[in-house]
Amino acid sequence: MIQIDERRTRGKTAVLPPDKLERVWAWGGASSGMCYVYRPTTTEGLQRVFELARQSGRSVGLKGGGNSYGDAFMNSENIVLDLARMTRILDWNPETGVIQVEPGVTIEKLWQYILGDGWWPPVVTGTMKTTIGGCAGMNVHGKNGWQAGPIGEHILAFDLMLPSGEIVTCSRSENSDVFHAAIGGFGMLGCFISLTLQMKRVYSGYLAVETAAPANLREMFELFHAHVDHTNYIVGWIDAIAKGDALGRGDAHLAYYLPPGADPNPQLSLSLEHQQIPDTIFGLIPKSAMWMFMRPFMNNVGTSLINTAKYVAGRVGSGKRYWQTHAAFHFLLDYIPNWKRSYGPGGLIQYQPFIPKENAQEAFGDILRTCQKHGLPNYLSVFKRHRPDDFLLTHGLDGFSLAMDFLITDGRKPEMVRLARELDAIVLAANGRFYFAKDSTLRPEVVQAYLGTETIQRFMALKQRCDPKEVLQTDLWRRLFR
Ligand SMILES: Cc1cc2nc3c(=O)[nH]c(=O)nc-3n(C[C@H](O)[C@H](O)[C@H](O)COP(=O)(O)OP(=O)(O)OC[C@H]3O[C@@H](n4cnc5c(N)ncnc54)[C@H](O)[C@@H]3O)c2cc1C
Repeated sequence: MIQIDERRTRGKTAVLPPDKLERVWAWGGASSGMCYVYRPTTTEGLQRVFELARQSGRSVGLKGGGNSYGDAFMNSENIVLDLARMTRILDWNPETGVIQVEPGVTIEKLWQYILGDGWWPPVVTGTMKTTIGGCAGMNVHGKNGWQAGPIGEHILAFDLMLPSGEIVTCSRSENSDVFHAAIGGFGMLGCFISLTLQMKRVYSGYLAVETAAPANLREMFELFHAHVDHTNYIVGWIDAIAKGDALGRGDAHLAYYLPPGADPNPQLSLSLEHQQIPDTIFGLIPKSAMWMFMRPFMNNVGTSLINTAKYVAGRVGSGKRYWQTHAAFHFLLDYIPNWKRSYGPGGLIQYQPFIPKENAQEAFGDILRTCQKHGLPNYLSVFKRHRPDDFLLTHGLDGFSLAMDFLITDGRKPEMVRLARELDAIVLAANGRFYFAKDSTLRPEVVQAYLGTETIQRFMALKQRCDPKEVLQTDLWRRLFR
């Protein structure tokens, strides 16, 4: 039973029970806020939290796994509705690959549930800790963005609870405007309470992988151009510290599904035991301790050394072909638990611009040089290919993205703000877009410029229809739209 202390009200907002007050951290650890956190397990529990919000005059921010790098699920001094305990698989048809889940089901639970039947999620994120509700809220992409599109393209339908408690069913044919805006609508129209998705048939627990090590940005683009028509996945890593002729050097991994019959023992490779990621390195060092070894290298000199070693190793191994399990290929970042702790107490932020293919090579060259000029090269850059889609607030376009992790310290913060402003100008001049899941630095005028007034007005009209009292809010919403 949820209680409000009616006697203790400040202005129009009631004071909520202090035992619900928690510090909620952005995934990157560079910002946080004190929030009243509620963790319902049922739709009735969820309805009661919305009722509490209406009575107490507090706003509600939705949280899945909390893997957005910035303030997308934070709602300082207000309610955070944490969906991570709504984890039931509601329906699964191993003949058709159609699954219905509650919003708190993680990508990890999803793939582990379906793989034995010969299916894999069509889009997965670089960590398996994300929830399906959170993935739909941001309309996430994978390493196959130009082929499979974002996850929204594989969502067949969902039930959305509005802050009034009403439940609306949405699909491409029913409430299609809400369908296309709530996916990617970062939790501002309603709360997904069940989602139905189409999975992808696979004939092996392995992918066939090839490596390459482009010597500069031009070669990286050439590699992607040459392979997008026939690979299923491509992802590049860029050494953001290399300069001059080596600017944009890195490595790339290309992966292909195995056709039926290629794997001599699919039953074995599709088993969960076979997909397990080992928890030690060389059978000795526990991976949970790895971040401590990485910590001394988290500066420009240390990262330069590591990047050079990684690039040279990539050159030596270039052209290698091998089979790798789906889990190992996709969830590389989960290999090193708590790796973000290596960034130290100030944490990290990510900046991921999306640039149309015609302008991408020049713009990403400018971006890398601008970061170096400010003395703030990023310590991890991931390069991907995308395609446009028809979701209202999409970040997708026919082009490329570069996700860059920046170390944050008190000393670096003012320079980081200046850098982000310069990068925003480069991205806008190149007709690029941004991604709320990774954002910590955008300003309303930049969002206005890339989304356009008409798109924002259409979204606001839907917000007015679904949430007229603006109960759903987050720190990100207030930063960019209010
Ligand atoms: C290591 C790492 C790797 C990543 N790799 C990728 C990647 O490859 N591709 C990519 O696209 N992203 C990637 N991300 C970003 C991440 O996938 C997105 O931020 C995703 O939205 C996080 O899911 P979550 O469950 O943690 O949701 P949260 O971060 O908790 O929430 C995300 C948004 O969805 C909203 N929301 C949550 N639940 C619901 C719900 N039930 N109904 C409506 N709205 C809801 C929230 O309000 C918030 O705005 C990565 C993040 C990390 C930390």
